[in-house]
Amino acid sequence: MKFAPTFVAWVVTSALMVCGASAQAPRRTMPKSSAGVNILLITIDTLRADHVGAYGAKGAETPTIDALARDGVLFERAYSQVPLTLASHTSLLTGTYPFRNGVQDFTGQPLRPEIRTVAEALKTNGYDTAAIVSSYVLDRSWGLDKGFNLYYDVFRGSSFLENDPGLVERKAGPSVDQALRWLRQPHTKPFFLWLHLYDPHSGYEPPEPFRTRFAESPYDGEIAYADSQLARVINYLKQRRLYDGMLIVLASDHGESLGEHGEKEHGYFVYQSTLRVPLVVKPPAGSRARPRRMAEPVQVMGIAPTILTTLKLHDPIEKQFETDSLLAEKSNPEAADVYSESFYSFSSFGWSPLRTINNRTYQYIEAPKPELYDLRNDPAETKNLITDQPAIASVLNDKLKERVRRYAPQEHPTGTSELSAEAAEKLRSLGYMAYRSPVSAEALAAGLPDPKDKIWDFNAVLDAVDAGKLGNTEHERELLSQV
Ligand SMILES: [Zn+2]
Repeated sequence: MKFAPTFVAWVVTSALMVCGASAQAPRRTMPKSSAGVNILLITIDTLRADHVGAYGAKGAETPTIDALARDGVLFERAYSQVPLTLASHTSLLTGTYPFRNGVQDFTGQPLRPEIRTVAEALKTNGYDTAAIVSSYVLDRSWGLDKGFNLYYDVFRGSSFLENDPGLVERKAGPSVDQALRWLRQPHTKPFFLWLHLYDPHSGYEPPEPFRTRFAESPYDGEIAYADSQLARVINYLKQRRLYDGMLIVLASDHGESLGEHGEKEHGYFVYQSTLRVPLVVKPPAGSRARPRRMAEPVQVMGIAPTILTTLKLHDPIEKQFETDSLLAEKSNPEAADVYSESFYSFSSFGWSPLRTINNRTYQYIEAPKPELYDLRNDPAETKNLITDQPAIASVLNDKLKERVRRYAPQEHPTGTSELSAEAAEKLRSLGYMAYRSPVSAEALAAGLPDPKDKIWDFNAVLDAVDAGKLGNTEHERELLSQV
């Protein structure tokens, strides 16, 4: 089994949990709500846009997603705000930037208490809300259960003994069973169901027949398996004649690097492979939105405002949103500049954080050695134009800093007293809003290593941890001695 990028922090914070089985809900028919539009939010973890048929992937087996895309608005360039599961979902469910909501990585930063989830807003407005999450990474202890009447984060107790906590998951089959069980319950209110499937995340171990069919690319086998299970939900909604009237949103929280730029999985870098995700919005019948493909870059954190706007629902949470509905007319060209970040290497190793802006043409990455790519001519990001195009890089750098300045909270959370004022200010200028710095004030002042220069050290650490888990302590020591 491959190593999850979340593990380094987990080894410090992990705790065993014993979870019980939930009671089975009665199988009764569900009357169609007349009080409002039902909503289904599907997130398929670790799903690269270019591994989905609707995004042009050759050999992909994603008929369910592809059919949903034909019925809805497909965003060709949708970007995750953070290529990490918890932080990305937090941004997505709150319509806020990670440096605003407080969840920038997985080191235990809590969701800031004043930040509400879209589930809270919907519940306040008369919705029955439920979440079925398939990874312990989204366990309720991290705070994303706010507003859900049901937050199904039950995992087999034994799986905590077999895996790193970051790899504790429930396969799509049982998660979909649970979702159908909930859908079949009588609902007197309109419903909001968030279904999270974790299968494409490593390790790539799809069940049969996908294991055999995708023996050469088990990652794609996991995607095909998740898609086949999702079909059960969509078919149920169609059979119950609920599908047409519903708002359905499908997205991923981040992609997967699959070796590009030397990165095996996700979280470490901020290139297209891990930031670009599939995003489809299937509007309810009667909506003015018509099925089409949108080429403009958008942020997945636009999902929460899209839900409220589509429902024509007004709630104080709108003041919290830091981006427009995905379906809004873009009068401001800057709306097409999308922001993403990763503080993974910073919080885990004390290396520089990475922040980036993608626009219609370019990607700019702020780092000790900054990068600029022309995505039209170089979609694989092989030629850094930073010295050839300094004016463009400078404009995008200003936009990035302005974005953080505009939305970052002015005060640090409680607990910052342990940081010197200088260190706190330095952290703020980096865009890190945590109450604790993972590096010393001296290291911050001296400048941090560029993650590009550390990727092989990082991979050696991951390999060493893998070797250690297999009991090969000699190989583990040898690998770590090279770092
Ligand atoms: Zn994820």
